[in-house]
Amino acid sequence: MPFAALGLSPALAHAAQAVGFTAPTPIQTEAIPAILNGQDLLGIAQTGSGKTAAFGLPLLQAVQLGATGQASRHVTALVLVPTRELAAQVGEVLRDLAGHLQQPPKVAVVFGGVSINPQMMGLRGGADIVVATPGRLLDLVEHNAIQLGKVAHLVLDEADRLLDLGFAEELQRVLALLPAKRQNLFFSATFAAPVQALADGLLHQPLRVEIAPTPDHTPDIAQRAIAVDDKRRTQLLRHLLKEHGWTRVLVFVATQYAAEHVAEKLYKAGIFASPFHGGLSQGARKQVLQEFKDERWQVVVTTDLAARGIDIAQLPAVVNYDLPRSADDYVHRIGRTGRAGESGVAVTFVTPDATAHFRLIEKRQGLALPLEVIAGFEPTEVAPPPAPAAPGEPGTGGVKGRRPSKKDKLRAAAAEAEAEAAAEAARPVGKKPPKPE
Ligand code: AMP
Repeated sequence: MPFAALGLSPALAHAAQAVGFTAPTPIQTEAIPAILNGQDLLGIAQTGSGKTAAFGLPLLQAVQLGATGQASRHVTALVLVPTRELAAQVGEVLRDLAGHLQQPPKVAVVFGGVSINPQMMGLRGGADIVVATPGRLLDLVEHNAIQLGKVAHLVLDEADRLLDLGFAEELQRVLALLPAKRQNLFFSATFAAPVQALADGLLHQPLRVEIAPTPDHTPDIAQRAIAVDDKRRTQLLRHLLKEHGWTRVLVFVATQYAAEHVAEKLYKAGIFASPFHGGLSQGARKQVLQEFKDERWQVVVTTDLAARGIDIAQLPAVVNYDLPRSADDYVHRIGRTGRAGESGVAVTFVTPDATAHFRLIEKRQGLALPLEVIAGFEPTEVAPPPAPAAPGEPGTGGVKGRRPSKKDKLRAAAAEAEAEAAAEAARPVGKKPPKPE
């Protein structure tokens, strides 16, 4: 089915073709006509389903039709996202599409962690669509750089992530600034109770579009779990790189320190590896990402927070060097590969003391992966026995492998976000190994 059959104007159908979208994805087929009709939407879809264009195309059409040509600080469409990487990415998709229109609507992208002044300048004369992280958006409202009283379309993208990252309060403050009469588009990959509650409070008779994973559009990701000792993980990674000849690998670790440390060890071993985390300046992160896309880095070692929302086409492999904290993080991590119909592999290193945690993640995902042992990397460490619970405390025993509670996750994310912000403020340029020639 062509894009034009979904009710898009010929100019927008052409824009979709011009950026390389030959046919709409399932979520686009279902969502675009409803959004063009003014309906609210609840989209439950995996990353890589094409959801950005699913809301982007009809929003561009709506702001084009509604354009008044008046310069003001009012915004017509607001897209709220959890991270600056996702903000930049969504902004790029919208601008790419807008760039093929005769009178391109203005798309502004704003996020925290960088100076506010250029963003204030960018909003001068208004913007048709603003893509924003909630905290920076509120700062801009306080500076009177933007007014939200005429927002006609609101998008919450990765709503589950917005809540996971502790944005619930900021979200409520933003919502209070919006007019009651507006269209609401709500996208989330997962749908736990708090996400459901937020959607219930926001949406009016929404069209529910759930892109159930079917063989046609399930990302083709081969999942593997390999048992290995803690200290042999870097060597195993080098072995796998050599054996499989992966051109680009995203490696997940638990901390910014580990991202630096693992990247440095690989680099010293002759592999073009770079760290990528919130302790690097925004400019350094942008550069690493671009160089990774250009295949100048073979390996990028990242934290969950920094990697959220990264979209790199043709990423053949993801490696969980450290286990993710939760099953949701596992899904987000492996979703970085196998995007837009390509196949990929996701390898998880399971050290003896993390085996129990990995089993919990598997259980939550309904998975049962064989725990492979690679010749030459047979584990020799023994998992520590679970410590007895202290009186009056839940029986987690402080075992590394226990599944963190919601509160733990919020605390960990808040602590990491704080550490990232502090590190960012403290250092102008991130440390990284010398760049490859
Ligand atoms: P998203 O789910 O929005 O992050 O999109 C995932 C990837 O799919 C991006 O790389 C898009 O460029 C790509 N994409 C989106 N829509 C289409 C389409 N109709 N045809 C081909 N690729 C698409």
